[in-house]
Amino acid sequence: MNAPFKLRPYQQDAVDATLNHFRKSDESAVIVLPTGAGKSLVIAELARLARRKILVLTHVKELVEQNHAKYQSYGLTGGIFSAGLKRKENRHQVTFASVQSVSANLDRFRDEYSLVIIDECHRVSGDETSQYQRIIGLLQQQNDSLKVLGLTATPYRLAMGWIYRYHYRGFVRSEENKPFVHCIFELPLSYMINRGYLTRPELVNAAVAQYDFSTLDQDRFGEYAEKDVNQLLSKHKRVTRAIIEQVVELAAQRTGVMIFAATVDHAREITGYLPEHQTALITGATDLKVRELLIQRFKQRQLKYLVNISVLTTGFDAPHVDFIAILRPTQSVSLYQQIVGRGLRLDQGKQDCLVIDYAGNSVNLYHPEVGEPKPNPDSEPVQVFCPGCGFANIFWGKTDSEGRVIEHYGRRCQGLLGVEEEESPAEQRERREQCDYRFRFKECPHCGGENDIAARNCLQCNGAIIDPDDQLRDALKLKDAMVIRCAGTTLSRQDSRLRITYHGEDGEELNESFDFRRPAQRHVFNRLFGRRLANGQAPKTFTRIEDVLGIQALLPAPDFVIARKQKHYWQVQERIFDYQGNYRKAY
Ligand SMILES: [Zn+2]
Ligand SMILES: [Zn+2]
Repeated sequence: MNAPFKLRPYQQDAVDATLNHFRKSDESAVIVLPTGAGKSLVIAELARLARRKILVLTHVKELVEQNHAKYQSYGLTGGIFSAGLKRKENRHQVTFASVQSVSANLDRFRDEYSLVIIDECHRVSGDETSQYQRIIGLLQQQNDSLKVLGLTATPYRLAMGWIYRYHYRGFVRSEENKPFVHCIFELPLSYMINRGYLTRPELVNAAVAQYDFSTLDQDRFGEYAEKDVNQLLSKHKRVTRAIIEQVVELAAQRTGVMIFAATVDHAREITGYLPEHQTALITGATDLKVRELLIQRFKQRQLKYLVNISVLTTGFDAPHVDFIAILRPTQSVSLYQQIVGRGLRLDQGKQDCLVIDYAGNSVNLYHPEVGEPKPNPDSEPVQVFCPGCGFANIFWGKTDSEGRVIEHYGRRCQGLLGVEEEESPAEQRERREQCDYRFRFKECPHCGGENDIAARNCLQCNGAIIDPDDQLRDALKLKDAMVIRCAGTTLSRQDSRLRITYHGEDGEELNESFDFRRPAQRHVFNRLFGRRLANGQAPKTFTRIEDVLGIQALLPAPDFVIARKQKHYWQVQERIFDYQGNYRKAY
């Protein structure tokens, strides 16, 4: 039977990738498609092709309904299992269900299913007691080769990180277990826009005023405390008013405007500056009935402005939106894309979607997600090639005016190396392992092995690695020790010796020298400095002092240097690189 509906080429590719993957593996997989790419069509096609029972799970009834409707529109019949939709059918070959309803009726899912498809799968947590995991666990009891496929536009969440481990283009997203094992297909937003599947965003740099959230402290996920944000915003009421005046002015040419506020208080304030009869405010506390009504009125264009805080996502689809005003901070490219994505649906007569960022996020919509909180406001994603395996990593970093990477924050190469497994000659199975090249590392004092800068125990010998904070604390207690926060180094030559002077922030100085005639001293220098040259991007083994002096600028400086007093001089004992602890960092 031919497909009763025509898939776009990339949708067909996503379907093919799924079939290929599950033909050779039972490991769970994720497909990443931008909002508006037509995930429900991919789901419908996979459901159509399946021979045995399949279950399509989502967390809201709107999506259950949408996915089911898409499937039925091709003349197929599927069941719905959702208390919210007042239907509990599970006798069909394909069942569209809400995760809450299934997990409340687990005893009714005793059949053998071959495939579970999870829409908006970034909501699946790794926690085994979660609703999704309990359902998967139960269905695996009936069928131990159950396939699990997730679909999402945002495979990354600030609080959880990547939702999968391995990417099909040959790299590792995480060294830890994740809810899904593989990403098997991914399409960038730029592809959708360039081919006219989505509206072109008009990213205008015309904000009359901008908030500056960069002075606030971030938590470890790169997010700000609501209290801090409110405090900052309450000092800038005039800024908010000026911004909203500009929004209203620009909105004269627009039909649907979505405004993303930072907090509930902020959203209320913004709403107060907007024309009352054209504005709706939706927060987490808005009654569901009221919320539905407001969204309905917005879609019917009775309301022009929709103010909200977090992203209105699931079940929200208003193609006429043609102006997005961002007044909230965000560190994540995914979240930013999600916000802008609200305005990118195609609609009749819609030329583009105006996007103005009033929060100084300076997120590039087309940048890849880095997967770590942005370390500081002027960081950008940079490409760093691994000297070990050649893989092109994406890390946060900085570039010079010509686009060359001058600094990056990557720690370990994310490339995947294929390893031939000997024990399975039948299929020549390939196991894949993450490249172990480290751009930043702590050296094990016992075996010399390289470890992550936060490691407590050596990966190779399991010996304890000294915590730099303990080292500093101990040294600071000693009368005959000196600790400097290193602000920079100068190098000079004295016959066959290379002399390094470490300059402390308060003008102190420590010196040491390496005799380049002696291989052992050269080796120590190269382990300390050569290996870390250019943030580990271009490690070098130096044999001549001239070569070192020639590229001084690329030589790393330690954050701290510890020395002990000898009879007539201070002897350097430790140089602490890439320090991340509690003592104030040198800069
Ligand atoms: Zn590598
Ligand atoms: Zn070791």
